[in-house]
Amino acid sequence: MKNLLEKLFPINRSLTGDGNRETLRQIQEIIPLEIKEIPSGKEVYDWKIPPEWTIRDAWIKNSSGEKIIDFKKSNLHVVQYSEAVHQTIKFENLKKNLHFLENLPNAIPYRTTYYQKKWGFCLTFNDFQNFFEENEKYEVFIDSDFNENGSLSYGELLISGEKKEEILISTYICHPSLANDNLSGIVLTTFLAKWLLSKKNYYSYRIIFVPETIGTIAYLHENQKKMQKINFGCVVTTVGGQGKFGFKKSFDENHFINFLAEKSLENFDKKYISYPFDIFGSDERQYSSVGFRINTISITKDKYYEYPFYHTSLDNLDFVKAENIEKTLDVYKKWISLVEMNRIYKNKIAFGEVMLSKHDLYPKNGGAFLPESHLTELDLIQWILFYSDGKTDLVEISKKIDAKLEDLFFVAEKLKGKNVLMEI
Ligand code: ZN
Repeated sequence: MKNLLEKLFPINRSLTGDGNRETLRQIQEIIPLEIKEIPSGKEVYDWKIPPEWTIRDAWIKNSSGEKIIDFKKSNLHVVQYSEAVHQTIKFENLKKNLHFLENLPNAIPYRTTYYQKKWGFCLTFNDFQNFFEENEKYEVFIDSDFNENGSLSYGELLISGEKKEEILISTYICHPSLANDNLSGIVLTTFLAKWLLSKKNYYSYRIIFVPETIGTIAYLHENQKKMQKINFGCVVTTVGGQGKFGFKKSFDENHFINFLAEKSLENFDKKYISYPFDIFGSDERQYSSVGFRINTISITKDKYYEYPFYHTSLDNLDFVKAENIEKTLDVYKKWISLVEMNRIYKNKIAFGEVMLSKHDLYPKNGGAFLPESHLTELDLIQWILFYSDGKTDLVEISKKIDAKLEDLFFVAEKLKGKNVLMEI
């Protein structure tokens, strides 16, 4: 993960362009991702794929010819999707096109102008104070172009499981050199996919790397039918900060994926921050929309909007470490493991009680089933047989009798093996 972070960090990603393709190609060295393209100009629902943006160079020189701002030193120096410009301009006119943060004087802000033709530079407030003077003239240069025959790139990987029903894992690739938002999400998703590829899975997994918003909308447009196979999912974003874990619920707060995300987090750190569902945020906005209504959760570590370096050059590899991403990866793995265990069974001997000894189900050892549980194996067998009406899932049973899902799953599978339960 550290290698991938370091390789991908310098790449200038955006909504479109070679930086995104290069990012996806690097991921392909770890997982068998398919890279796909959607042409510029194509209408996707209420939106349209923008032209492909390429930037080769950009700088500002002072009247002595010294470069005081240089895109080659940080790709955050140029407002993303800036149009080309080359002119000598008075400070008072240039100032409107300069973006800085007085409250974070060492940070270059991240700015975009995707859907409005403009140009601009971003710089630290310190540089603004040190290098610019009233009544001076500056030479500004942005060598960029928009290709109407270009395309928007995305990556997709389908990992087939025992079932055709799918779980969606989605992350976004449109941010340039910004580590937590959202290179950390790209790295976590890659390694989560690698883990899923290494084992047998119950569900199938649809893993996508798309530019945020427009890329997601385009993906949904291209795959509208396939999305019906998706049961639920997650949007992986801002997972590598040094602060607390966070958990944003899906739109249906009673959906079991929310309960299981809380259980997963409690395994690692009980002091996580809980966020209710909100219409603002990341790509859950698209997945939750009326036409799709796919429940997606997000487990974060320093969630977007919430940390001071958000959308600035200080969101870098000093702030984000592979070790932090690994912690969040462990929570996601736990969540997936639990989600795969939440099944619905039906008691095949519904009329009257099951004669346990006849099915070799009467536990030979008494006492608690697991050291920390107050319930014995016999308790679990009886409760599972009682509740398994073909409609009640294991999460519901676990809430009713205060048992661990893992224990219930273990016992239910045993009952299934004895042909007393069937899976629905
Ligand atoms: Zn962002």
